[in-house]
Amino acid sequence: MKEYYLGLDLGGTKILTGLADTQGNIITRSRKETEANLGEDKIIANMIETIETVIEKAGVKKEEVKTLGIGSPGPLDAQKGIIIENSNLPWKNVALVERMESALGIKTILKNDANAAALGEKWFGAGRTVDNMVYLTISTGIGGGAVINKELFTGINDNACEIGHTVIDPDGPLCGCGNHGCLESFASGTAIGREAREAAAAGKSKKMLELADNIVEDIDAVICAQAAYQGDQAAREIFEKAGYYLGIGLGNVVNIFNTEMIILGGGVMKASDLFLDQALATMKEIALPGPLEIVTVTEAELGSDIGLMGAIAVAMEDKLMKNE
Ligand SMILES: [Zn+2]
Repeated sequence: MKEYYLGLDLGGTKILTGLADTQGNIITRSRKETEANLGEDKIIANMIETIETVIEKAGVKKEEVKTLGIGSPGPLDAQKGIIIENSNLPWKNVALVERMESALGIKTILKNDANAAALGEKWFGAGRTVDNMVYLTISTGIGGGAVINKELFTGINDNACEIGHTVIDPDGPLCGCGNHGCLESFASGTAIGREAREAAAAGKSKKMLELADNIVEDIDAVICAQAAYQGDQAAREIFEKAGYYLGIGLGNVVNIFNTEMIILGGGVMKASDLFLDQALATMKEIALPGPLEIVTVTEAELGSDIGLMGAIAVAMEDKLMKNE
């Protein structure tokens, strides 16, 4: 009998679902609005619809589908299969795994999206050649996942690798988590946007204001990057400062995990040429010689498919481990 695997990337605005063969090649895919504002039952109905679509389009029997992997923003309890809550999705303590299994009759595994992305890069992306790696996503926030001896390091209750919330400077800006000076409060897209608005409001960047039609509130990391590419000095300095703090975070990751590889992904990496050199230089100052000698820092390979490939890797993890 043939075997197939399902991956579902659940986001605040869209659901991406794919059906993959035993090599992890996507055969069919489906995309649908999450419609988070319509509530929990509608979200789950939309998820199921995408799954039925990909199975039907592929002409596959449901019995041939071994596992469904779901990558979701958290916090969640992966072992119990429960999404605890999320700022972009209107649910609290939803037993998602149980509900998907009873609706579909397919074994379902839930992981947080950063962990799923780490697994995706390990098996299908830049981490294919190594057994130990840390994945960091730099976007609105900073999230991460570590793979140690080919296995996801989740922590005892799935809260490991909150690298974005490691404190880099206790006198730093207030972070969404309530602490001051987390890595995320210095080097995320949100932090870059905040710095950019402050610089523009202080009259340090005419270019950013011009790009935002003189509306300071509209300035974000994307506008800051555009200004930097057009030679705006204040914008360039904001990215370099973010790079400096990211480098401290990376140095800590090098020293703590001692992995062969650190993989960087997320939307902010689209502007990596504005901050990565600075980040790597600072990382080299912070890192100890032993772990520094062995580590390579590289960019994620899966691009916009990382959420989906991560979810497929979650579904296939047992099989991929056995094939090794
Ligand atoms: Zn924090």
